[in-house]
Amino acid sequence: MNLLIIGPPGAGKGTQSEMLCEKYNISQLATGDILRFNVKNETELGLQAKSYMASGKLVPDELIINMMKDEILKPVYANGFILDGFPRTIAQADALNILLEEFGKTLDKVIILKVPNEKIIERMSGRRICRSCNRTYHIIYNPPPMDGECSCGNSDIYQRDDDKEETVIKRLEVYDAQTSPLVEYYKSKGKISEINGDNDLNAVFLNIVNSIS
Ligand code: AMP
Repeated sequence: MNLLIIGPPGAGKGTQSEMLCEKYNISQLATGDILRFNVKNETELGLQAKSYMASGKLVPDELIINMMKDEILKPVYANGFILDGFPRTIAQADALNILLEEFGKTLDKVIILKVPNEKIIERMSGRRICRSCNRTYHIIYNPPPMDGECSCGNSDIYQRDDDKEETVIKRLEVYDAQTSPLVEYYKSKGKISEINGDNDLNAVFLNIVNSIS
């Protein structure tokens, strides 16, 4: 099964993706995670992407599309994937169509997670991430199982620089201008489920699963 999840930053795409991967035995393909890995390891891509990410802007399409060409062919995605954070522009969506066609794959469902902007800001200020396994937590809504320690055993749980309020506001503007047109784009192709993401995470998950089956 190949899925795509679209929604503003902080809508819960990462958390829902993890749960969907477990249920359907597929792999998460999160461009933000891949980019952060490259920034951390100071690769050429990481060095090129760093300043865009820190200011809440999108990394140029060309860099992202090239990165995806290599990524999507990895054996880990052979059983299926959930795209989280890609595509983010119409140009990326067109490139994805070409890639999928080339490799004989299709998207089974496009999930749109809807959350009002004021809720996003509240959520993101509380978001924390495990530096070891990238698992996402929220200090109030989804705290780590043990105080300050991730379920993977690592205790280095941090706040992303781009989760600070002024950067979140910028990222929401970027989402509205560049990514939200994808909703109409995929609506015209069918296979779309619009899900209210402003709800308990298990309720959101159940609604997504019901819309898939
Ligand atoms: P995310 O973790 O998905 O919120 O992504 C974090 C940051 O990485 C974004 O604010 C962008 O700067 C960059 N990024 C991730 N995915 C993409 C993409 N598909 N296109 C352009 N920039 C991206």
